[in-house]
Amino acid sequence: MEKKPKTAVPTPVSVRPDMMRLVDEIGPEGILLGTHCKSCGAKTAGKNRHCRNCTSSEVETIELSSGGILINYTIVHRAAPTWTGQVPYILGEVELPEHVVVTSEVVDVRPDEIEEGMQVKLSFRVGGHTKSGDPIVVYKWTPA
Ligand SMILES: [Zn+2]
Repeated sequence: MEKKPKTAVPTPVSVRPDMMRLVDEIGPEGILLGTHCKSCGAKTAGKNRHCRNCTSSEVETIELSSGGILINYTIVHRAAPTWTGQVPYILGEVELPEHVVVTSEVVDVRPDEIEEGMQVKLSFRVGGHTKSGDPIVVYKWTPA
């Protein structure tokens, strides 16, 4: 990676460019990406070269909705060593209107308040920094 001069303005980067692109280089706002298969019509999370349903390469990248319904969740008490956030935390599976399921942390809700079927929306946060000091933008779910 190229070293930046110390006076450079920090440039936010997406935690997973295959899953989320940033709206611009100023603030932590992003759009979830998906794949639409022109052969079978399936829509899946993330940018893929092939359809996960039928393996066709006739696919296009689409932008997914910014909210959906919490269909499943778990409260994680023992996090992976790479986890840098708080423990316990809530990991939720959210179904978007495109029938794509996206898993991420659910924030701004207490474990005793959360329930399946609740409406949630995307929330973008700075989850860390690169070695050159640029903020890493992560996507989470928050009650809508
Ligand atoms: Zn397909």
